[in-house]
Amino acid sequence: MNPPVRVLYLAGSGRSGSTLVTTVLGQYPGAFAAGELRYLWQRGEVENRPCGCGQPLRDCPLWREVRRELPVERAAGIAAGLRGRLRMRGLPALLRRHRRGVRPVPAHPDDAALADLYAAVARHTGARVVVDSSKLPPYGALVGALPGIDLRVLHLVRDPRATAFSWRRRRGLDGDTDPELMSRPPAWKAALLWLVWNTVTVRLWGDRAPGGYLRVRYEDLTADPEPTLRRIAAFAGVDPDGGPFTGPATVRLTPTHSVAGNPSRHRTGPVPITADVQWRRDLSRWSYALVTVLTAAGLRRFGYPWRRGAPGPVGVDRPAGDGRPAQGRPATAGGRPVGVGRSVPARHEEG
Ligand SMILES: [Zn+2]
Repeated sequence: MNPPVRVLYLAGSGRSGSTLVTTVLGQYPGAFAAGELRYLWQRGEVENRPCGCGQPLRDCPLWREVRRELPVERAAGIAAGLRGRLRMRGLPALLRRHRRGVRPVPAHPDDAALADLYAAVARHTGARVVVDSSKLPPYGALVGALPGIDLRVLHLVRDPRATAFSWRRRRGLDGDTDPELMSRPPAWKAALLWLVWNTVTVRLWGDRAPGGYLRVRYEDLTADPEPTLRRIAAFAGVDPDGGPFTGPATVRLTPTHSVAGNPSRHRTGPVPITADVQWRRDLSRWSYALVTVLTAAGLRRFGYPWRRGAPGPVGVDRPAGDGRPAQGRPATAGGRPVGVGRSVPARHEEG
């Protein structure tokens, strides 16, 4: 029997920095940035969208090897099956099963193919840790229950006013030239999604994830990139000294083979990690108030202020040994991020 595959699952709501964390972690020896593996079947296999390396997924040398071991002829059916099993309306039942201590997402014949996917990725990349930024908590629960998986959960949280603002931006699914846009939910919907997914993540793993649970806020990550990524790498089980940092807030990125995610996953070269704080200036008063009211329960839990202009998040999750304020420093500490091509967004702001 093969040893279990360790999966670092990035859970939570969208636009919280998961693509950034995945891309940076993928530069550490022993870690593989797989991207949003729940989309492999549809966006990767059926639609043949670009891998992180830029090749259409079916042409990427790495994925060509992995695909040989998968029932790719059934990809459309597996994708449809996943969509059906992971619907929002199944959440109450999922949480009830979790409370009773049974599999949150019931077993299904496609689970063998999903387990084979993680095993094949680990085998062909030689990685000790597969980083999956799928985010959706029900999918994480499903993966954690697959045979041969050792799941660790990284919960990324970002101020919901920032995520609501970020969701409204127009952005192509694979860059500015892609006519298919990333989803753009209105502020009220973005707020409710934020509350639901972050609350469900805590319910599923916050107090008793078998392999471990670590919560990191985007604001702490961008305020202290190097120490925060070290902490995440150590949690995942890779050597924290092996990272791509060339300065406290600058990384040198090489291409990944990630599936789906924010278009910023295609960025390579030296990249400063900076906070995107445009929402502080440009989010309307009405949207700010609406999102604040709708997410009130979560604001307190994750340490975000109610009032606009109030001091930044209180550092309940900040790495030890750093007394600096999370947001009082210039957002452009490393200069303006540079990337390749014109399609990359200017700042690390989502994913
Ligand atoms: Zn590739």
